[in-house]
Parts: sequence; structure tokens; C-alpha cells
Amino acid sequence: MRALCWNGVNDLRVERVPDPTILGPQDAIIKVSLSSVCGSDLHLIGGYVPTMRAGDIIGHEFLGEVVEKGPEVTRLNRGDRVITVSIIGCGKCWHCEHEEFSLCDNSNPQPAFEEAAYGHCTAGIFGYSHAFGGYAGSHAEYIRVPFADTNCFRVPEGVTDEQAVFVSDAVPTGYMAADMGNIKPGDVVAVWGCGGVGQMAMKSAFLMGAERVIGIDRVPDRLRAAQMKAGAETLDYSRVDIYDALLAMTGGRGPDVCIDAVGMEADSGASAIEDLYDRGKQALRLESDRPAVLRQMIQCCRKGGTLSIVGVYGGLLDKFPMGAAMNKALTFRMGQQHGQRYVKRLFEHIEKGDLDPAYLLTHKWALDDAPQGYRMFKEKADDCMRVVFAP
Ligand SMILES: [Zn+2]
Ligand SMILES: [Zn+2]
Repeated sequence: MRALCWNGVNDLRVERVPDPTILGPQDAIIKVSLSSVCGSDLHLIGGYVPTMRAGDIIGHEFLGEVVEKGPEVTRLNRGDRVITVSIIGCGKCWHCEHEEFSLCDNSNPQPAFEEAAYGHCTAGIFGYSHAFGGYAGSHAEYIRVPFADTNCFRVPEGVTDEQAVFVSDAVPTGYMAADMGNIKPGDVVAVWGCGGVGQMAMKSAFLMGAERVIGIDRVPDRLRAAQMKAGAETLDYSRVDIYDALLAMTGGRGPDVCIDAVGMEADSGASAIEDLYDRGKQALRLESDRPAVLRQMIQCCRKGGTLSIVGVYGGLLDKFPMGAAMNKALTFRMGQQHGQRYVKRLFEHIEKGDLDPAYLLTHKWALDDAPQGYRMFKEKADDCMRVVFAP
């Protein structure tokens, strides 16, 4: 089959690779019909996530059809149209039983890196380096899904392919970001990053009772989408001082909930010197992540407020303002998405019409054009929010 392979930093190629086969009794093989890019792929492509190997297939947000299944798969049938949550749960361990699927004890068959770096091993993720299990990703004609009964979900009739594909990753990640904010009616929620996950966090914040949502970015069409589609007010960090603006908009208090939908490759809007410092340290591998957004959220959040982090971090941060966080009594919530917990509820929201993620799909391209698709996505060219490949 054809698949998009990572061959080194900024080196993506569509290649011929062997078809996946059933390896375990709970596996399913999915024929991929749509597979989306995700901001977190850019960390892999840029070489910020260690343990990538030449030939690894990337991609983790996808929709397809069950074409083969192992003998212990009971909930699915051949021909089912399904989405698969990007982070793999086994469905049986202590964490999966507590609906903390991204903390699964059993789905990462290569635990050594994480155990050494993080103290514990977390869940495997499709197409996301050998630290996260070494699973082949979804930018391919077929993909093997382990523990298919736990991770695949049949798409209801009333939900289109273009809506469903994002229930794999962007929608549940954004929804969980809002959920972790413990939003109360009347709250002001600020969301850093108006990409796919940020947009879904904004919509979800309103569904959970937020009175005002403020989206922060610098890309004009993303700010426009945040206003038009997600109903948010917006701030362009290349034009205004975010701290001053947020405090002015909240009567000097600061937002109740601050959501990070950016992660480790943040551009600093606050200070050019801080940005240079972080880029330099990151380039020299003295710091793995650029935490500009995180620092700014701690400054801006109201005293006693909540920070919810779904932008991906991989390693170590520098100059983390712990004093501000502690003395302001901030609550930190964070994590990779536990999508399996939310999928049913999200399909209901989509069917009712109070959430429509299809507008995230701005470009639908052939798989053969995937390297160019990622270039456009990275450069945020042509009003690109998310490119989706159709093998
Ligand atoms: Zn993702
Ligand atoms: Zn598990």
C-alpha cells in the first residue's frame, strides 16, 4: 500500500510499504477514507520528538471502514464506518476502567523511553514516534488498530465523513480542554491557539456555560473563524499586549479559565528576547519545549483560576514562573485526550447541530500530495486550518 513516511527532519515522502495485518485477537484493519493533519505532527516533522525512525508512517486522526477483524472483536463488523480515537486504550487496565484512556498501562509496547523520561509509561499513540509505541499512523491506505472494541466507534448515520473525522482527535481534545477547566456559568474563558483544537475548545466552553470566550492567535483567518464559527471574541498577539487586553476585558480580574491549545512550539507574543532565548535553548537541546504560552497564561489568569493544557509538551521547560502559579493559587489540569470518554456525547452534539467541526476541513487532497499538504499546513498558507488526505 501507499503511505506517508517520515524520513528525517522535514523529509516526508509517500512510499510503498507492506499492508498491515492482524497481529492480535483484538485488532482490526481499517481502510482509511479520510486522514487529517494535526498540529502535533509538526513537532514530529520538525524533529522535536525523539525516537522517530526513518520509514515511520505518521497521522493519527482518521475515519475509515472496518475490513478485517481479529476473533475477539465483538462490537464491530466488517463494513462499519468508524472513527478511531488517536490515543490507544486497552479498555481493561486500572486507568482505562477509570476512563483515563490516554494513561493506559497496556497500549504502549515500547515503555522504556517513557519509563525513564517520565517515571511511568502512558498510552500508545498512532503515528507518534517509538516513545509512544511505534504504531504505524493513518496517512496510509490501511491501518491496524489494536483493542478495536475500545478505540473504534461507529459513526451515526446523521454525521458526515467531514464532521466525523475530527471526532478522532481535534474535537475530543478541545472538549476535554474545556472540561478540565471546570467551567461555571458566567465564566470568561481565554483560549491560546485558534487552530482546530482551539476552535473546538471555544465551542465546547460555550456548551459548558461560559459567558465569554476569547481566542488568541495571530493568523487572520483563524481569528476570523474563531469569531464567525466559534462565536469568540479575539485578540491578535502580534498587535496587542495580551496581558493588558485580557485584564481590560475582565475588569482587572483576568480570565477564570485559560486554555493552552498551542504547546511546545509557541511563538512568543510577549517578548522577543524571551522567544530568542527559548528558541536558542531548544535548538541546542538545553530545553525541549518553548513555554511562551504557558508563562503568559500564568500571568494573565485570575487569582484562583484554572489552567487547562492540551497543547503538547514533550520534555523540559525553562524559566517556569512557579512563584506566580503558587501564590496566585492556580489549578493546573492537563493531559492527552481521553477521547473514548467523550465520543458518544460528541456525536450527539453534532447530530443536534450544536457543534459542527466540518469547517476545520479547509483542504481535501490526495495522499500522494501529503508532503505539500504538510508544508501548506505548517506555513498556515491559503487559509489552511486542516488538510485532510483521501487515500
Ligand atoms: Zn493530534
Ligand atoms: Zn488500558
